[in-house]
Amino acid sequence: MDEKLTKLIELSRELANPAFNLAILGEGNTSADCEDGTFWVKASGSQLSTITESGFSRVQGKRVLELLDDRQLDDAGVEEGLKSSLVDSSMSKPSVETFLHALCIYEGGIKWIGHTHPISVMSILCSKEGARPFTQHIYPDEIVGCGEMPAVVPYLDPGLTLAHAVRDELRRYLDKFGYAPKLILMENHGMVALGQSPTDVMSISLTADKWACTLLGTFTMGGPRFLTGQQAKRIETRPDEAYRRKQISMES
Ligand SMILES: [Zn+2]
Repeated sequence: MDEKLTKLIELSRELANPAFNLAILGEGNTSADCEDGTFWVKASGSQLSTITESGFSRVQGKRVLELLDDRQLDDAGVEEGLKSSLVDSSMSKPSVETFLHALCIYEGGIKWIGHTHPISVMSILCSKEGARPFTQHIYPDEIVGCGEMPAVVPYLDPGLTLAHAVRDELRRYLDKFGYAPKLILMENHGMVALGQSPTDVMSISLTADKWACTLLGTFTMGGPRFLTGQQAKRIETRPDEAYRRKQISMES
C-alpha cells in the first residue's frame, strides 16, 4: 500500500483513540498531500477509529480548487464535482470537507491535516465566548504547540460555504503572519490541526485539547489570567522553545 496512506490510516485511528476524546463515530476527517498534485482524504461516511484503505479517496487537487471557484455550484454540483475529482472512479466519494483540505494543502503548504471535534474545544467554541478565549495565551506549551495565533471562522454550512470562509481567513492569516496557522478554530463546529507530519497533527490536536481543558478550568476559578503580549512573544522567540517545537513536530 501507498506509504502515505498507511501513515494516514495510523494517524486517523490515533486521532479517534477514545482516550483522547477528539472524535467519535463518523466525526472528523483527515488528509495527506501526495506531493504530485493529488491528495488522500477521508471518504464520506467512513469512521476514523476503524478506517482502512477503502475509507479514503485520492483526489486531484487542481479539480477540487476549480470547484471552489465555481460560485454557481449547488448541492448536486458539489456531489458530481467531488466524484469527478477522483483519481480512480472506483474509489468512494470524498468527504464534503475535501475543499477545506485542498485549500490548506495548496494555499497553506500543509502536508498532513486532522479535523476533529474535541469535547473541550467544542465546549468553548459552542459557548457565548466562541473562539475569543483562544486569541490570547495562558501558558508556554500551548504557544509552542498551537502557534502564535489560531485562524478563526464563524459557524457556516459545512462544505463549500465553510471552505470559502476558510480560504478568506487563510489568505488574511498568510498575509498578516507570512506563514500558515497550525490551528483553525471553527465556531460551533470543531478544530483543524495543520501539520508537516502526522506527529505534528497529533501534537497540535492534543495541545489544543489540553489548552481548552485548562481554559475551561480557569473559568471555574474566576477566569483566565492571560499572559501579556510581550510574554507570549518571548515564548515564540526563545531558542529553547524553538528546539522543543522542532522536537514535537518531527516525523515519526
Ligand atoms: Zn467537522
